[in-house]
Amino acid sequence: MTYDVVIGVEVHAQLRTKSKMFCGCGTTFGLSANSQTCPVCLGLPGSLPVINRAAVEMAVRAGLALNCTIGAHNRFARKNYFYPDLPKGYQISQYESPICEHGWIEVAVGNGTKRIRIRRAHLEEDAGKNVHETGTSGSRVDLNRAGTPLLEIVTEPDMSSAEEVVAYLKGLRDVLMYLDVCDGNMDEGSFRCEPNLSLRPAGQQAFGTKVELKNINSFKFVKDAVEYEIKRQTKVLNEGGKITQETRLWNIERGETAVMRSKEEAHDYRYFPDPDLVPLQLEQAWIDGFRAGLPELPAVRKKRLEREYGLSEYVSNVLASDKNVLDYFESAASEAGRVGLTKIEVGKELANCITVDFQGQLNKLTYAPNLTQATTPGTGPVPGPFWVDPANLMELVARKIKGEISGPIYKVVLEKMVGTGKTASEIIEAEGLKQVSDEGAIEKIIDEVLAKSPAQVAQFKEGKQQVVGFLVGQVMKASGGKANPGKVNELLKKKLGA
Ligand code: ADP
Ligand code: MG
Ligand code: ZN
Repeated sequence: MTYDVVIGVEVHAQLRTKSKMFCGCGTTFGLSANSQTCPVCLGLPGSLPVINRAAVEMAVRAGLALNCTIGAHNRFARKNYFYPDLPKGYQISQYESPICEHGWIEVAVGNGTKRIRIRRAHLEEDAGKNVHETGTSGSRVDLNRAGTPLLEIVTEPDMSSAEEVVAYLKGLRDVLMYLDVCDGNMDEGSFRCEPNLSLRPAGQQAFGTKVELKNINSFKFVKDAVEYEIKRQTKVLNEGGKITQETRLWNIERGETAVMRSKEEAHDYRYFPDPDLVPLQLEQAWIDGFRAGLPELPAVRKKRLEREYGLSEYVSNVLASDKNVLDYFESAASEAGRVGLTKIEVGKELANCITVDFQGQLNKLTYAPNLTQATTPGTGPVPGPFWVDPANLMELVARKIKGEISGPIYKVVLEKMVGTGKTASEIIEAEGLKQVSDEGAIEKIIDEVLAKSPAQVAQFKEGKQQVVGFLVGQVMKASGGKANPGKVNELLKKKLGA
């Protein structure tokens, strides 16, 4: 039997507000347990919540960027359940009237794009964390995260493969990061995703029973978990079994999903409007102001890069997958005029330098910072000197483009820049790495190489053209990479009488 795969995704994005959703406590990650709490987020009797304006603004901006209708009248509801990390015994969320509804996002799949519909995006508060430490008795509760603002974004069941789910999540995460409403950190849980997955016999209209997947904190695990679950459900159905509606956790070590709990129905939560909070009325002019102020979004920015810098779609995708890296690229490229080049002239080399060579140098460092860290001052595993000023990087790339330094020297200089904060000129000057274009000097090296390579010269005379490449390589090596490769080629051919 063949089945169609049906997937809808729920994302909890932590909003980057300074304070929590309904109180003035801070939202910093990783502080000592329960140090960011107050009577409101501890759920003490008599305390009253107040809506965080910044969180509402962020939700509106995200909703507009996702082509949603913004609910002019929306209200908060209590979602009732008991768990130790939820001191009030209910979570303040939105139910009947979410702040954003009926949107869509276009994402890159295969060679084209696919439109994924957004069913709703609503504001809610996060719960705290239960901490289970080995070597201590019992479990503890840390309420620092309790009350942190979340935007829960729910799609229609429009996806049908792991590839589409990953593309959707990357596209959504990009949008939220471009808007600066979420830091997108999957590791720290600021961008959590829960795919819902079901199968139905090919051609059948009605959906099958779905399973919700949790504990997925990287794109790699999204792919693995979805692919595993498709296989598992196919097997169950083929063996005549039934899928149980449940929540399953992705187990990283075992590479499989396992039952966490059976899934509640919405009515189990006894949702009702929160009487402590007034309904939220948003003025149209206020909403329109945010619409007008939206930044250039990833998809649009990608198209512009391809036009302005002559980049391929592949390269623009690589750059645009991280806003910090892309900002860095554009900041470096803005220096093109100063070094006498146009955007089109620098585009490809600069992009290649950042995504391939720069990353290659970072990989050599023991603390292995990634490109985001290397292109954002003040971030990273250690407060490092790996950050390279974009203007300096542009200067280096410009020298390579103009042929002032050879490929090997360019790499050496880049390596020294990443470690030290020095400019390319400083390093080239100090290390005597200037390119040698002087014909006399190059001829001298060629003569030496030819004298040492009688066999290759003989081969060339017999008509073997390929040995020229070998000889050029030998000359470049003998010059310490400093000889101008164009000149070497020209002079070598002259000497060989080619
Ligand atoms: P729940 O109340 O269990 O959270 P919802 O109806 O709110 O379920 O849907 C949650 C997510 O699951 C949505 O993204 C939705 O598109 C998706 N979904 C709903 N039904 C199915 C199904 N049968 N198969 C796959 N995904 C589904
Ligand atoms: Mg749900
Ligand atoms: Zn508080």
